[in-house]
Amino acid sequence: MKTYDVVIIGAGLAGLQCARLLARQGAEILLVDRKTELAKGVHTTGIFVRKTLEDFEFPAGTLGRAIRKVNLYSPCLRPIALESEKDEFRVGKMGVLYESLLRECTDRGVEFLGGARCVSAEVPADADSATIVRLEKNGSAFAVGARVLIGADGANSRVAKDLGLDENREWIVGYEEVFRSNNDGEPVLHCFLDARLAPGYLAWIADDGEEVHVGVGGYAAGFNPRAALREFREKTRHLYDPGEAEPVESRGGRIPVGGVLRRIANDHGLLIGDAAGAVSPLTAGGLDPAMRLSKFAAEIVAERLRTADPRVLRRYSGELFRARFVSRLWMRRVIKTFTSQRLLELGCVFLRGRVGRRFANHVFFGRGSFPDVEINHLPVRRLSKI
Ligand SMILES: Cc1cc2nc3c(=O)[nH]c(=O)nc-3n(C[C@H](O)[C@H](O)[C@H](O)COP(=O)(O)OP(=O)(O)OC[C@H]3O[C@@H](n4cnc5c(N)ncnc54)[C@H](O)[C@@H]3O)c2cc1C
Repeated sequence: MKTYDVVIIGAGLAGLQCARLLARQGAEILLVDRKTELAKGVHTTGIFVRKTLEDFEFPAGTLGRAIRKVNLYSPCLRPIALESEKDEFRVGKMGVLYESLLRECTDRGVEFLGGARCVSAEVPADADSATIVRLEKNGSAFAVGARVLIGADGANSRVAKDLGLDENREWIVGYEEVFRSNNDGEPVLHCFLDARLAPGYLAWIADDGEEVHVGVGGYAAGFNPRAALREFREKTRHLYDPGEAEPVESRGGRIPVGGVLRRIANDHGLLIGDAAGAVSPLTAGGLDPAMRLSKFAAEIVAERLRTADPRVLRRYSGELFRARFVSRLWMRRVIKTFTSQRLLELGCVFLRGRVGRRFANHVFFGRGSFPDVEINHLPVRRLSKI
């Protein structure tokens, strides 16, 4: 059985980002994904916010045109027009982006095992031994060893379970169809509040002139995303009508909205991205957190490999991030109580006023991001615990 410095399960944005940063440090890495081709089965809309675009470099040709205009609609389709002076959003061409990041990883020596599923991980009794990771590819079972196991395997993480770490408990479900755009005007993001078609979240039409993403998201209880999307498309046909055109893709999945989990590491491994619950509870945006938390995880893992001290991983705690999300978690609880269209319509009256508009501008255009934590700036209290 071959033992690697690091085995990463999941080659979504979090796993790829972590793999490429660790590869730069010379670690021997196995990156595993059950998908054979990363460009297929994309499940995210891929909207990146300004701060991510400013702080990270994206490979050429992986982003759509900049969006500055947002129209927010009440259940009765009364619009609130918001506009920023800056380029606020870009829709990632996610398939191209994943493939480009994977190329960087493999060029730097990362071994990629596509079409392989992580079946289980067996944690050894002592912290210094390797974790045994059981995999399956084309019906054959085999195992590899991992000095550090990283769970980047999404919202319903197998690795979290097997490492005995915290697991996501609160989700919304998102589902969308993607069409080719024939909009040669200004790119625009339309967001819709609707307690029936998007309970507890939003429906959206994002048209950047290249692709149009039409989707709905909401709490799973009593919500049928496909039926809701059909109805939503009818309701908004005056705003976007693809005519006879069929969608080029449909995408969907769970989005954890309970905030960053507390226990996201132990001596054997750690979690990143959706597996760690690293998603904004308010906006359900997980791409910025996937990039930032993976960067921090890569620093911690590099330190663990350098010092050969498994306890270093204990510095990687969800508690470092949770405090920053308290207000957003409260707002999520409030949003959850807006279960009637009338209440939402009233909420929109508030959003049209001066204070409400300022709030809406802050939510859509505030330069918020997942907190950046660097290994050299961890709170002293945490360091002394080791
Ligand atoms: C419909 C929808 C729209 C969204 N839109 C946005 C948006 O516009 N902007 C935004 O910021 N966020 C958005 N999000 C959230 C965002 O997409 C996620 O937070 C982000 O993609 C998480 O990345 P990840 O790498 O952690 O997980 P994932 O992208 O889920 O990657 C996990 C990978 O692990 C692999 N995997 C899972 N289990 C195993 C296993 N057992 N063995 C091997 N491989 C495994 C999967 O194949 C997958 O490739 C959206 C989510 C959804 C569902």
